[in-house]
Amino acid sequence: MIKQLAIVGGTHGNEFTGIYLLKKWQANPELIQRNSFVTETLFGNPQAHQENKRYVDNDLNRRFNRDELAQPGLTSVEEVRAKEINELLGPKGDARVDFIIDLHTTTSNMGPTLLLTAKGKFYSQLAAYVKMHMPQLVICCDEDHKTNDEHHFLSSIAPMSVMVEVGPVPQSVIRHDVFEQSERMTSLILDFIELDNTGRLPELPETVDAYRYLECIYLPLTESGERAGMIHRDIQDKDFAAIVPGQPIFVTFAGEEVCYQGEQTVYGSFINEAAYYDNNIAMSLLEKISLNCR
Ligand SMILES: [Zn+2]
Repeated sequence: MIKQLAIVGGTHGNEFTGIYLLKKWQANPELIQRNSFVTETLFGNPQAHQENKRYVDNDLNRRFNRDELAQPGLTSVEEVRAKEINELLGPKGDARVDFIIDLHTTTSNMGPTLLLTAKGKFYSQLAAYVKMHMPQLVICCDEDHKTNDEHHFLSSIAPMSVMVEVGPVPQSVIRHDVFEQSERMTSLILDFIELDNTGRLPELPETVDAYRYLECIYLPLTESGERAGMIHRDIQDKDFAAIVPGQPIFVTFAGEEVCYQGEQTVYGSFINEAAYYDNNIAMSLLEKISLNCR
């Protein structure tokens, strides 16, 4: 039974949607309250937001590894903030909150995406329920073989969690459609938990289509490590479309096409995500899967 839930926005300081949704909900708390549990909100990285950056020193959403949280003497802005958040919502492993919804946006054309970092009937049913009410929803399983302890995401403080990831929206921009989709998805997640808590779940499909993360691939680089090319126009904005072996995925600045070398059809996500430019990640590759709701 989920009794205490936290919605986190602004884990990345330049993802404005979640930050402004929090402001809306703080002004209208009834929108996120349900009868069977208590909802609170938390602004993840206000300092990065003040500086209009994703993060100040390093990515807050990679700082929640249990070993790192326990390590004394870490002093970066995000290392310190991670420990504060772990005290506010956690501690990880014995957390005060039962469930975290962490709000993110992407510059990639992913539409409304529900990111799951754990498996099980609860999550499959949750995904199926949200998709039933929001047919354009995409469900992505991200390293759901890992235990919560092994995850480094903020949401892994709580024993159960999801991430809401909606795009395309540029960094530091608010778009009406993305704002609405983020709000709607969050509201449906809260509705599902209320129904599950009170044993009133409606009939759900037996299975629901989803994608599972396989690996990320990198932009072409020169021998000295400089960027040598970009995402090919044929896959730009084509998140969740098939990428087949031999298909051009990059083009060098000299105009040479670089083709996908894998042996199986895969699907891309976070294609040309602006936040991944600092480490030359071009996209994530996914496989299609089906989640069992029974
Ligand atoms: Zn984010």
